[in-house]
Amino acid sequence: MESEDIARIKEKAQKMIEKDSQRLISTSKAIWNYAEPALTEQKSSNLLSSILADEEFKVERTLKDLPTAFVASWGDGRPVIGLLAEYDALPGLSSTEVGKPGHGCGHNLLGTACLGAAVTLKKVMQGNSINGTIKVFGCPSEETLYGKVVMAAAGLFNELDAAFQWHPGTENSSNYDSLNALDNKVYRFFGKTAHGSTAWEGRSALDAAQLFTLGIEFSREHMEEKDRIHYIISKGGTLPNIVPDHSEVHVFIRSPDMGRLLRLSSKIDMCAVGACLATETSYEIERNIGCHLLLPNKTLSLTVSKNLELVGPPKLSKDEKKFLDEKLSQKYGEFSEEILAPTGWEVGEEWRGRAISTDVGDVSWIVPTNGMFKVSIAPQGVPYHHVDLTTLANSSIGHKGMIIAAKTLACSTIDLLTNPVILKEAWREFNKRRELLKWDYNPMLPAKVEYPEYERKAKLTPKKPLSTSGK
Ligand SMILES: [Zn+2]
Repeated sequence: MESEDIARIKEKAQKMIEKDSQRLISTSKAIWNYAEPALTEQKSSNLLSSILADEEFKVERTLKDLPTAFVASWGDGRPVIGLLAEYDALPGLSSTEVGKPGHGCGHNLLGTACLGAAVTLKKVMQGNSINGTIKVFGCPSEETLYGKVVMAAAGLFNELDAAFQWHPGTENSSNYDSLNALDNKVYRFFGKTAHGSTAWEGRSALDAAQLFTLGIEFSREHMEEKDRIHYIISKGGTLPNIVPDHSEVHVFIRSPDMGRLLRLSSKIDMCAVGACLATETSYEIERNIGCHLLLPNKTLSLTVSKNLELVGPPKLSKDEKKFLDEKLSQKYGEFSEEILAPTGWEVGEEWRGRAISTDVGDVSWIVPTNGMFKVSIAPQGVPYHHVDLTTLANSSIGHKGMIIAAKTLACSTIDLLTNPVILKEAWREFNKRRELLKWDYNPMLPAKVEYPEYERKAKLTPKKPLSTSGK
């Protein structure tokens, strides 16, 4: 197709999204109000998929264990382009009801922008006889880095030619950034309860947890620079005068390298085993989930970057600027015009590693996927997973960002549908990268982690039943 024709089609697509904006805004508002945290996104998932079904997309829900996931497809043949929609909220981040869940990461905008792009793409493809298939992936539970890993394990992304993702943010950029792989594990310790004043009769599971976390602290010196560990003691007992017989530590382990991640993860397991030996308790280790590092596809990231520049950054009205000045400037500084401009990216030979993680990582090992693509909905300095972001995700500023994301996703997809050279280059890059990494993709699904060789020694085997008397 001639480049003038492609430009004309992109212009038309942008106008169509503009025309559809009221519906998209009300959809994002509804999802914002539902504010459903990970794995409970029934209404949000139903709303997005029902609009897609009304627009002649074929909606499938094939995963029994992930009922809020869906795949909505329209079109015929190849290329098959995927748009990764998310819609889960975060606990405790409501900006209207204290303690209730809220969209502190803006996923109400994220999922809806994918819907907007997909519906317009259908119309544009119909109107211009463009071949190909658009698939919207309803991906639940991103905040626990869960949904896409399970969907990837079920093979849902296997037939894609490319996947696009975006995220609401504090800048307008399409970057060649890689995000860390993550192992998400729960360590449970089991002891023997006793009265606190006759503690010698018991064995404290909290002692084991504390010794375990000390082991983590001492491991830090021997970790490579970009590896990370964070943890919380999620269960530590009930009262000081009761020796706890159960404790639990929730640990995130991150690394930019898959092999290193798994080695570090096993090392941390050994800290748990050692803590049990020292405290005569026993343990249970469970992987909640693990996600792979993000392999950003430079070719696709550049495609998005060019289209983001074409669409242009958000323009704020006087009222919106006043709102930011009055509500947020004291906390975060001035919301300057510059923040709204495209920040572009610096294209290095190698990607930049970032400490955070996403379950998009797993998709990026199966099919070329763009790196982080963000559209500004908040002043720089506003943290993600924050109640101020919840407020902005339901504001006209957030909606403007969402429309820009929808337009950019649509225009980037039009490029892939009309110019096979881009996809060819994206796959060449993807295959080369996979070859260099020498790592077979295997989803890190929930599982018990067992060490039978240590199990026997670590088990608490009291010679006689321990007394729990004492007042
Ligand atoms: Zn997010």
